Amino acid sequence: VTSAVTMKGTMTEEQGENEGLSQAEQKKESIQEVRRSLPVFPFREDLLAAIQQHQILIIEGETGSGKTTQIPQYLIEAGYTKGGAKIGCTQPRRVAAMSVAARVAEEVGVKLGNEVGYSIRFEDCTSERTILKYMTDGMLLREFLTEPDLATYSVVIIDEAHERTLHTDILFGLIKDIARFRSDLKVLVASATLDTERFSCFFDDAPVFRIPGRRFPVDIFYTKAPEADYLEACVVSVLQIHVTQPTGDVLVFLTGQEEIEACCELLQERCRRLGSKISELLVLPIYANLPSDMQAKIFNPTPPGARKVVVATNIAETSLTIDGIIYVIDPGFCKQKSYNARTGMESLIVTPCSRASANQRAGRAGRVAAGKCFRLYTAWAFKHEMEESTVPEIQRTNLGNVVLLLKSLGINDLIHFDFMDPPPHETLVLALEQLYALGALNHLGELTKCSEEVLTIAAMLSVNNSIFYRPKDKVVHADNARMNFVVPGGDHLVLLNVYTQWVESGYSTQWCYENFIQFRSMKRARDVRDQLEGLMERIEVEVVSSPEDSTPIRKAVTAGYFYHTARLSKGGYKTVKHQQTVYVHPNSSLFDEQPRWLIYHELVFTTKEFMRQVIEIDSSWLLEVAPHYYKNKELEDSSSKKMPRKQGKSKEELG
Ligand code: ADP
Ligand code: MG
Repeated sequence: VTSAVTMKGTMTEEQGENEGLSQAEQKKESIQEVRRSLPVFPFREDLLAAIQQHQILIIEGETGSGKTTQIPQYLIEAGYTKGGAKIGCTQPRRVAAMSVAARVAEEVGVKLGNEVGYSIRFEDCTSERTILKYMTDGMLLREFLTEPDLATYSVVIIDEAHERTLHTDILFGLIKDIARFRSDLKVLVASATLDTERFSCFFDDAPVFRIPGRRFPVDIFYTKAPEADYLEACVVSVLQIHVTQPTGDVLVFLTGQEEIEACCELLQERCRRLGSKISELLVLPIYANLPSDMQAKIFNPTPPGARKVVVATNIAETSLTIDGIIYVIDPGFCKQKSYNARTGMESLIVTPCSRASANQRAGRAGRVAAGKCFRLYTAWAFKHEMEESTVPEIQRTNLGNVVLLLKSLGINDLIHFDFMDPPPHETLVLALEQLYALGALNHLGELTKCSEEVLTIAAMLSVNNSIFYRPKDKVVHADNARMNFVVPGGDHLVLLNVYTQWVESGYSTQWCYENFIQFRSMKRARDVRDQLEGLMERIEVEVVSSPEDSTPIRKAVTAGYFYHTARLSKGGYKTVKHQQTVYVHPNSSLFDEQPRWLIYHELVFTTKEFMRQVIEIDSSWLLEVAPHYYKNKELEDSSSKKMPRKQGKSKEELG
């Protein structure tokens, strides 16, 4: 089979014939030529037929066979995006999502971010026109929040499924679920040649489509004894290859940015010292945080006479394909998250990689010609010290964030969630416990988000003090009406109660009149609320209600107004930071209550310094929401009992 590289070579020879074509046309033709040379190409029609026939299809193919870059293009060409439907393709790694999107945009001949785009955390490179979206698996997970049935997608491709990242595993469960009621949705699960039977099994025996590999033999060499310093061993091995072996590029697998940078520096320094005694060695790093223009360099063809060394994290194991690699150096390590549910500690540690990983790495040497893989460990270690395959991330990570996300998707019963490999029971329980302790879940294990209520409160506060109508001739009636709205906790909650009842009345004018509520102010609050809700939608903050318990609401107010805290001490309230004497406004629902700690919305001076709109809080929340502002000592309670009431209720003081 002809490889992409040799096809490019052929193109150069043929340039004479293409003289009639413009440069752009030539480039286009050469791209199409490369596309046709990929292993997946002969299976284009069969693959499309299989996708047509089955809702869920597992696609297995050697790295570099064209799964990620070609299949979405076939789908577009076959009409899957007609009428603006989208194809989504997930990648476990940011770098892969960006780089693959850039490549495909180029192949399709569009500007990146238009028809072809990518979306990764903190960077959305898509537009209204985007029909093919590469994204991290975490981003697709987030999209479930705004679009639980992924209605705008016609095809979802879970790529690099064999990586079994936490997010990919969660996606499996969610997608399997929505596929049941979205019969028009096509689901493709793409994987390197690993584990595909398990995917098929999980997806109710979905068929597996195998793209036959194109692999040249790879000779594997082990060290005789373990290496004490694998970084140094890598550097020496690269130089040895460079000096003794025929042309062909080198790929080195290290565990992270620091190691990679150190290795690159060492290589460059030694090359400088050797000077003209050796031919040119191009040293190129690739890791997640590398700026994208630097990342792109690894794909540039190596100039004749030179040799390229790519020093990579395991991103180059399957996510990215670099043409021209003949030699692989594998120290046998990777950085892995591990989690101890007993101590609650999560750590990132350098551990031996799995045999499956090691074999993937070796495979990178045999894509374009027979290659060599130098394993910097012993054959014995490969057999006895390495795990068969990598443990899925879900089984070795803190699940706090995932539990929160699933809960916000309305999935409450996590114990019975359809996991391909369930996380350890104790990890799940610990995550729930921690979230409960943080106040993120209530005693029923439900999410305590309260954006709905806080939205109303914010709107009501914005029309402050003009809600309640108190005509001079009906003071008693008005005050009684007002008392009827009182709920425990404070004035913010009273305002919420008023608004809720008004909504229930159908925004009635009559209701306002009967309850001594000013209709005009309510209408204004409603407008403000609508506007705020629109803003929240725009920044994708969900509007979620927490009806049974006011704690999350009061905590939310505390988070926003922690600097407006007053404490009851010796006969009255003092602000916490400035020890200023302040008074609860006689109109407040907490006037008689005198809670030890409260937060005020505003301070107004009439006859005294009055706190208007107060809400009762727990002092411990202050440390939780504003540890940068409060010290433990400031919040110690001097008295354990409520102070006797000193303030008299006199409306005359209001001024
Ligand atoms: P798979 O997903 O099956 O591993 P890909 O679709 O990623 O395969 O890659 C297919 C081919 O596309 C590769 O062999 C390579 O020649 C080419 N390719 C992929 N990404 C790039 C890139 N960023 N720059 C240049 N060529 C690329
Ligand atoms: Mg791929």
